[in-house]
Amino acid sequence: MHVIKTSETLIKHLNALRKNNPVVTIGFVPTMGALHAGHASLINTSVAENTVTVCSIFVNPTQFGEAADLETYPKPIENDIELLVEQGCDILFLPDYEDIYPDTYQQQEFPIDGLDHKIEGLSRPGHFQGVCNVLHRFFMLLSPTRAYFGQKDFQQTVVAQRLAAITNSSVEIRITPIYREPHGLAMSSRNIRLSKKGRQNAAFIYRAISQAKEDVKEMELHEAIAKATQFIKAQKGAHIDYLLAVDTATLDPVQTLDSANEIALLTVVEYEGVRLLDNIYLK
Ligand code: AMP
Repeated sequence: MHVIKTSETLIKHLNALRKNNPVVTIGFVPTMGALHAGHASLINTSVAENTVTVCSIFVNPTQFGEAADLETYPKPIENDIELLVEQGCDILFLPDYEDIYPDTYQQQEFPIDGLDHKIEGLSRPGHFQGVCNVLHRFFMLLSPTRAYFGQKDFQQTVVAQRLAAITNSSVEIRITPIYREPHGLAMSSRNIRLSKKGRQNAAFIYRAISQAKEDVKEMELHEAIAKATQFIKAQKGAHIDYLLAVDTATLDPVQTLDSANEIALLTVVEYEGVRLLDNIYLK
């Protein structure tokens, strides 16, 4: 695996590949590092679908609200490299801040129809515009054929798709299923902050939303959501931040299953002080 630290070297490298093989496809997996099996599943999919896979590790300051979160973000680079090599990643792109955001760079406000202000955006102002800025930079630099995002960060997948559409980018946005721990908890770098027992117990989140997916076959959507809410609230120490069914195109809440073509149930549950995200398609 090539480890490339500047965009200039990366562009040269990719251009040479394109010159030698005009039908080369470039799969791009943007990450912030501290890689786990969830990230590995993205890399794996990209490796299977493209000639070349580029994974970036860049802890993007413009998507962090709190400076403290940014400073304490884990950076286990040796482990990350090992995981990427194991998964068959071709290039690790490790740019520094000035490379992505040179002095001349002006942060942009992308018109994404308020997708950035909803759900997660309510408690994280500026976060999704930060995501748009960094993705736009990466898409311009790499011109990837496909870019890979995890369904786990559902709102991010919708924002990335909208960004690609409004910027007329040729990149194909690919969304891969949530990779879960054996008992069902969505894999996340935050899971290590749970106690051993808490990590096992936290599977109740997936149980609740999977049950809701079954329940909507037999009951009204609001009844299924009420049942899932009750189930989660009955778990000692669990606090629901939100649990809502949304139209996946607009991220607006829906009251009935026939109100949109595609509906997902999104939740964040705080458990042992950790914010745990999960979601499932209802249709
Ligand atoms: P991050 O490093 O947290 O920015 O995540 C990089 C990418 O990995 C994002 O597209 C995430 O949605 C994705 N990802 C994180 N956890 C998982 C998971 N459990 N399953 C699938 N993809 C994931």
